[in-house]
This record gives sequence, structure tokens and C-alpha cells, in this order.
Amino acid sequence: MIKIDTIIIGAGPVGLFAVHQLGIKGLKSIVIDNLDKAGGQCIELYPDKPIYDIPAVPECTGEELTKNLLEQIKPFNTEFFYNERVDEVMQDKENWIVKTNNNNEFTAPNIIIAGGVGSFEPRKLSLKEAVKFEGKSIFYAVKNKEAFKNKNISIFGGGDSALDWTLELSKFSKINLIHRRDEFRGAPHTLAEIKKLEKDGKISIKTPCQLESIEGDKDIASITIKFEDGKTEKIKTDTILSFFGLIMKLGPIAEWGLNMNKKTIEVNSENFQTNKKGIFAAGDICSYPGKLKLILSGFHEVALASVECFKRARPEEKYRFEFTTSSKTIQDRLGLKK
Ligand SMILES: Cc1cc2nc3c(=O)[nH]c(=O)nc-3n(C[C@H](O)[C@H](O)[C@H](O)COP(=O)(O)OP(=O)(O)OC[C@H]3O[C@@H](n4cnc5c(N)ncnc54)[C@H](O)[C@@H]3O)c2cc1C
Repeated sequence: MIKIDTIIIGAGPVGLFAVHQLGIKGLKSIVIDNLDKAGGQCIELYPDKPIYDIPAVPECTGEELTKNLLEQIKPFNTEFFYNERVDEVMQDKENWIVKTNNNNEFTAPNIIIAGGVGSFEPRKLSLKEAVKFEGKSIFYAVKNKEAFKNKNISIFGGGDSALDWTLELSKFSKINLIHRRDEFRGAPHTLAEIKKLEKDGKISIKTPCQLESIEGDKDIASITIKFEDGKTEKIKTDTILSFFGLIMKLGPIAEWGLNMNKKTIEVNSENFQTNKKGIFAAGDICSYPGKLKLILSGFHEVALASVECFKRARPEEKYRFEFTTSSKTIQDRLGLKK
């Protein structure tokens, strides 16, 4: 069990800035996110779109904002736990215990829930028989590409993930790229590389078609795909990778005994604490009179929550308000040499 000052649920912009606000107060945090990378909505929904209302940053894309937030928290050497969904939150006297779907456990006096609109989860294959192969030979993400070596892989999807993994895994496995439309959505240079691989006979592309059935008992032996004209084709396959995008689910957050208002968590706007002492909520997931679902609001919310986190994590110390421009202590924590 990992012991820490604050557990942050969600690595969106608000969770990332929470690391900073806790860090300059001398608190250590860890961050858990269901996705395989930081950035939340900014990275998953609009990485290339410009944002125009981050204070003092006239224009930056979702990806640039995430990169800068990660750069800003570098001095704190924070540990991130990606591809893990927080499922359970339990009380242990003055502390909280958090358990993830990978059975990792963390304990802290504080939790900041920066869960946005809930956890991003993969849109799964709709075939009933897919469930029994999930996690064994059907995957919705690649966590360790070594596990995909020397296989017959059928990759479903028409976006960046499907194309990027086709390129990468074709270096050491046989790939069928299958999409329900003729056109793929990807960067032009990626599409050009894909076409070249097909021309050289290194991959096989099947469009426009959908998955009709999966054959096999313990392991997958083959799949059958159906084309728009009704024709079918059986393809030797032992592994399926499916990239049909992500859906947002509030998920387990609703079961932690917190006061909910529709799909958001009610907080006290003095310190962004929920009805449970030591559990805070900030960013899109929290609600209070006048709440605006903006990134800048989330930044303010974690600044205030971090003060209360300090009081709970260091009850014997007095909290001192300090400016970053003049505080030697904060500058030391930021690793600045004077
Ligand atoms: C198209 C678009 C354009 C936008 N433009 C702007 C703009 O111009 N300006 C602006 O201020 N805002 C804009 N927004 C809104 C802004 O993106 C959100 O306000 C912001 O992302 C909220 O940040 P967050 O950190 O609270 O949550 P999110 O960014 O939603 O991140 C939450 C993270 O928590 C994770 N999570 C949730 N539950 C769990 C769990 N149980 N376990 C593990 N992880 C979990 C999720 O996987 C996710 O990564 C825009 C939004 C969209 C969709």
C-alpha cells in the first residue's frame, strides 16, 4: 500500500495543476487516471484545437496546455498511475484508502477528485462472444507492445490509434486493418505510410466491413467480417485490437457516498471539500452555486482545496500564505537555484 499526502483522481488539466498547488505547499501526491496519458478532455477530445481563455496565455492547443502543465510540475517528481480506474474509496480513521481496478491500494488523509465528466472508457465490441476473450485475446489498448509480437492481429478502427498501432505492430506481427468506411481519419503522413505497407504486401486492409463473428473456444482461431455488399470473409486471427473511440462514464464515483447533484459532486466553495472530510472535488466534476465548467475555475478550486489538504496532512504545522515570487521555501521546492 502506497502512503502519500494526497491522492489525485484524474490527470486532466485540473488534476495536473493540483499537483503543483500541493507541491508548492510541500505536499506529495500521486495521480491515478483511467487513460494511458495525462490531459483528460484536452488530450482526448481536442488536442489540436486552440484554447483562448487560459489567463496570460493568449492561445494554446489542448496538447500544448497539457505539455506545459506537465512541465510545470516536473520539480515534484510525481508518480502517475495510468490505465487504472479508481473503483473503491474506504475510510480508515483519519485516512482514506483508494483501490483501483488493478488492485493497487493507496492511502492518504486527502483525496482530490478531479474526475471531469467521469472516466474515459473504450467503446467495446458489441458481439456477445467478445466478452469471454476480453483481456486475453481482445484488447482495447496496448499497454505493453512486447505482448503483441509474432501474432495474427486484426485491428478495428479508422482513427489515429488504429493507424498508429498498425504501423508499429506490423514491424513484428501480421496485421489486418479493418474499418467500416473506405476512408481513414489520420494524419496524411501516417496514411501515406499505411498505403505503402499495403502496397508492399506487409499489411492487409479490409474496407468497408464490420465484424460478424469470432470463432474459437479458449483462444480465438479466426474472425468473420462482413462487407457492405453482404459478402463475408474468414480471417485467421489470434488477437483483436479494437479502437472505436472512448465514451465518458461517471463510473464508480457515484458509489462513494458523496452528495451528488445530477452527475456532479457537491462541494463547499470555501475549500472544495465534499460532505466527507478529506475528500475534495474540483474541475468539471464539482458543483456549487455559480460553477463554471472552465479550466481556469478548476485551477482556482485546487488552489483552495490544497490549503485544506495541507491542514489535514500537517496538523502540527501552521499554514503560511506565501507568494512564489518571494518565498525561498517555495523556490527551493521548485528546484530553483538563486
Ligand atoms: C471540445 C471542447 C472544447 C473546450 N474548450 C474549452 C476552452 O476553450 N476553455 C476552457 O476553459 N475549457 C474548455 N473545455 C472544457 C475543459 O476541457 C474542461 O473544463 C476541463 O477538461 C476539465 O478538466 P478536469 O481536469 O476537471 O477534467 P477532465 O479533463 O475531464 O479529466 C478528468 C480525468 O479523470 C479521469 N477519471 C475520471 N474518473 C476516474 C476514475 N474513477 N479513475 C481514474 N480516472 C478517472 C478521466 O479519465 C479523465 O482523464 C472544452 C471542452 C471540450 C469538450
